[in-house]
Amino acid sequence: MAWRFALMIDPAASDDPRTDFSGTFRIIDPATPALSVGELSTQRGDGIFESIGVVDGHAQEVGPHLERLAHSAQLCDLPAPNAAQWRQAIELAAAESPAEGEGVIKLILSRGVEHGPAPTAWVTVAQAADNTTARTRGIRVVTLDRGYDSGAPARAPWLLLGAKTLSYAVNMAALREARRRGADDAIFVSSDGLVLEAPTASVVLRFGDRFVTPEPTGAILHGTTQLSLFDHLRAEGHDVGYETIPVADLVKADAAWLLSSVRLAAPITEVDGIAIPVDAGLTASINRYLLSPRD
Ligand code: PLP
Repeated sequence: MAWRFALMIDPAASDDPRTDFSGTFRIIDPATPALSVGELSTQRGDGIFESIGVVDGHAQEVGPHLERLAHSAQLCDLPAPNAAQWRQAIELAAAESPAEGEGVIKLILSRGVEHGPAPTAWVTVAQAADNTTARTRGIRVVTLDRGYDSGAPARAPWLLLGAKTLSYAVNMAALREARRRGADDAIFVSSDGLVLEAPTASVVLRFGDRFVTPEPTGAILHGTTQLSLFDHLRAEGHDVGYETIPVADLVKADAAWLLSSVRLAAPITEVDGIAIPVDAGLTASINRYLLSPRD
C-alpha cells in the first residue's frame, strides 16, 4: 500500500459546536511511527474503522460511512464521533488523494492508550490497489461456516458482529482459507445454513429482475456500497430487497457479486466449485455507477 497522507485527530465530543476543527488535527509523516506502545487498537484490536473509496479525488458516500462509524461506536461503547470534525478530516484527506484514479481513505477510532484518558483517532490516505481483474474477470468463492447460528447476534451482542471493528484477524484467516481451497474469496454462512457476508464485502444476488442481499439483522455489516447500489437499481426501476437467503440458493442465482467500497462490484464466477452465470454487461454498468461521484 502506497501511503500518501496521515492525520492524527484529537476526538471532539459529539455535541462540540465548533465549526472549525483544524486545531484538533495534526498532520504526520505516514512513513514514521505514530502510535504509543500502549495503544489498545494494536494490543487488542479494540477500536473501529471505515474504508472510504476515493475516485478522482472525490470521497464516496461520506455520509453513510460516518453513520456506520457512529453505529459501530455505539455498539462498542466508544464515545460518539463528532460528524463535523470527521467530515473536515475527510476533506483534508480527499485533497491529498490521487487527483486521478482511485484511492482509499481510512478512518480509525481506537479505545486509546491503556489507562489513557481518551480515544485515539486518525485518518490515512493511500493509493488503491488495481481491482480491474476482479471487476472484469470475476472471482471464485467458497462458503465458510462462521461458526455462529443466526440467533447468535441477539443472544450474544458482545460478539459485535454488526460493528466494523479493527479485529479483522478472523476475516483475514477466512481469506487465507479461501485461497488454500483454490478460490479468491469467501462467503461466510451461519451454522444454520444462511448466507451472511464476505470477510470484506457484502453479497448481492440477482434472481430474474429481483436483486437481494441478506438482511442486516446484526449478524453482518450493512454495506455502504450495497445500500448505494440498491438506491440506484430502485431508481432504474428494478426490484430490490433484503431476504433470508439459504446457502443452497447461491448457485441458483442468475448473477451474484461481492460489493465493497474499494474493490466495488466483483462478479462471482463460481461458488464451491460450481459455476454461476456472470452478467458482464450489467457488472460493467454497476461499476460505472459505483465509479461515478456519489454522496
Ligand atoms: N462486510 C464486511 C465484513 C466488510 O468488511 C465490508 C467492507 O469492508 C463490507 C461488508 C462492505 O461494506 P462497504 O460496502 O461499506 O465497504
